[in-house]
Amino acid sequence: MTDDCDHNRLLLQAEHDGELNPANAAELAAHLAACPACAATRLEMAELSRRLRAEVPYHHAPGALHARIAAQLAATNRAPTTPRMPLHRQLPGFAAGLAMAAAVALAILPMRGADIGDQVVGSHIRALQAAHLVDVASSDQHQVKPWFDGRLDYAPPVRDLAAQGFPLEGGRLDYLDGRPVSALVYRRARHAIDLFIWPAASHRERAPAGRVTSGYNLVRWSEGDMVFWAVSDLAQQELDEFVRLWRSAR
Ligand SMILES: [Zn+2]
Repeated sequence: MTDDCDHNRLLLQAEHDGELNPANAAELAAHLAACPACAATRLEMAELSRRLRAEVPYHHAPGALHARIAAQLAATNRAPTTPRMPLHRQLPGFAAGLAMAAAVALAILPMRGADIGDQVVGSHIRALQAAHLVDVASSDQHQVKPWFDGRLDYAPPVRDLAAQGFPLEGGRLDYLDGRPVSALVYRRARHAIDLFIWPAASHRERAPAGRVTSGYNLVRWSEGDMVFWAVSDLAQQELDEFVRLWRSAR
């Protein structure tokens, strides 16, 4: 463990909590590539989350615990004050601690091995909330594309659709499914579109398929060895149009 490792353990925790910003994600990825110890810690954290999810019935605990805590608190409040609290009167605190642990477990569970669509929406929302959609602001695809050189181990295709009503605003480095990925940012009126692109695990082409997650529209497809996820609060029809134009543009 070095000071560098200490710092990166904090970044690991932030990643685990879904609070890693793009700059830190890139920094962490670089460290993990060079540091087997931190890479192993990351795997352990993922394994712990997986086991929590698989073995602990947390999904049912909070409701039942909440009811029990409420009942016990009510009983405690009715009881006369005693100089020393008997053990059973301390149970509400213990139960509250358990409930908090359950809530924390629930909060961290979605982060590792979560559905990619959920992660895509999460990244989009985080970027919107931080008002940090672009690391490189440019409507010129010939500036955005080279910006990713050296920041990623692949070259995402970059296309401008200004003439078709979806101007390119820039690009951003993000972190999805345990790896740094490119996000291209487009705009339609006041709506932002994130287009995430990363190398596909298989070479199978997949036609665009839409879905809705947390109120955001998503379209995913695969072509030319890359996976694409478009996400926006645009109407599904308009996002479909964006995808159709993007795929036919060169
Ligand atoms: Zn390290």
